[in-house]
Amino acid sequence: MDVFGDTDPRLMPVHFFGGAVHLDHASAIRADIQKQDYSVAPRHWYLDADFQCATCHQEFTWTASEQKAWFEKYRFWIDCHPRHCKKCRAAKRRLQELRWEYDSTVATTQRNGTCDEKRRIVAIIGELRDALGSVPQKMIDTAELLQRQITREEEQNASGNHL
Ligand SMILES: [Zn+2]
Repeated sequence: MDVFGDTDPRLMPVHFFGGAVHLDHASAIRADIQKQDYSVAPRHWYLDADFQCATCHQEFTWTASEQKAWFEKYRFWIDCHPRHCKKCRAAKRRLQELRWEYDSTVATTQRNGTCDEKRRIVAIIGELRDALGSVPQKMIDTAELLQRQITREEEQNASGNHL
């Protein structure tokens, strides 16, 4: 008797690959369910599954070996599957990191940052604006203020060198 597809990947619960546009059953590899985090139904197999990215709408393949890493190495909850392609996931992560860096450094940089620290904040705001299309007016004001300070310090340094 088959339980949750343990004898045949075609008999696995369909929600494991909910929304997939194609499943390649020939690519199926046996899972080590002892390493998985599940409560009722484990994933007995990993297999290449094609999804459409929720952000860019391109099709991408969630591969059997990626699934093995997700569920046996990182021990992600067994029911999850990706909604975004790798490129969009990486872009989203990058924006989160930039936003975190901005939030954690902007106040001290505005108070007493070096020119390099100010340049970094201006660069972060520029990258966020390029990626998102727009940023809050407060960020634009901050970038302009810091840029004026940088320019002034550079001018002071330049004139100082002549003395
Ligand atoms: Zn995408």
